[in-house]
Amino acid sequence: MISVSIGELRVDAIVEESLVPMPFSLLMPGGDPALIDAERHWLEPRFADLGKGLGFLSFHTYLLRTPRHTILVDTCVGNDKDRGGHAFFHGLRSGWLDNLRLAGVEPEAVDFVLCTHMHADHIGWNTRLRDGRWVPTFPNARYVFNRREYEHRLRGWQADAQQGYGSFADSVLPVVESGQSLIVDSDHDLEGHVSLEPAEGHTPGNVVINLRSRGARAVLSGDVIHHPVQVKYPEWSAAFCEDPVLSAACRRRFVETHADTGTLILPAHFPSPTAGWIRSDGSRWRFDFLD
Ligand SMILES: [Zn+2]
Repeated sequence: MISVSIGELRVDAIVEESLVPMPFSLLMPGGDPALIDAERHWLEPRFADLGKGLGFLSFHTYLLRTPRHTILVDTCVGNDKDRGGHAFFHGLRSGWLDNLRLAGVEPEAVDFVLCTHMHADHIGWNTRLRDGRWVPTFPNARYVFNRREYEHRLRGWQADAQQGYGSFADSVLPVVESGQSLIVDSDHDLEGHVSLEPAEGHTPGNVVINLRSRGARAVLSGDVIHHPVQVKYPEWSAAFCEDPVLSAACRRRFVETHADTGTLILPAHFPSPTAGWIRSDGSRWRFDFLD
């Protein structure tokens, strides 16, 4: 589990599953196997098993502790969710909630819950099953949903069983019904230290979360980049990007914007050590991990 300080902010990764294998051919259909193979010297063993054509993904939440608030960003897959037989998501039982408690946070202590977008692996722990009903996991939190993403899902939620495995119905709507949701714009400033920034392409309302404190900067990049090899090849969108062309342009802009700036990048799916910096490398870029 990573734990870093950004000025006065403390950031911990709360892990649901640390190494989920996925064939690169499914993860990034446009990826070139020969170019991926050429990165073997740093991809193996932590980020890929190239003999089997597999990339590894981590699923984790970021816990932010600011001087004023306890905040969660992206709540993973969640337990007991009906995800139509999905190989990893369906009926998952993980120790995520125990891991949150191990980090010193009880569910009652969470002030805000944010999500970078509303795919099933970013909103699952928004709710948990109580007496056969989905109820907010964090009874005292405001759940911050950005309007563009929320309205996009709302318009199509009955078709969500296809795209989102029904996650909007069991992980967002119960929160709205509880009165705990806070619908904001995509550039919302939560408390000075923590602000949203539009990063559309992966989904229509996708955002990244910027952290700033005492001159230090970090960005929670969500699914703008799924796997570290995409830092070198930002033109390869993931299969889950709803607009792959727009997502590739967003990823390229993100990499160019943050390269060589000292801004710590905290992605949603990079395996441990997870966080790092984007650096220029010839005509492209590389990801220098924290360790
Ligand atoms: Zn994701």
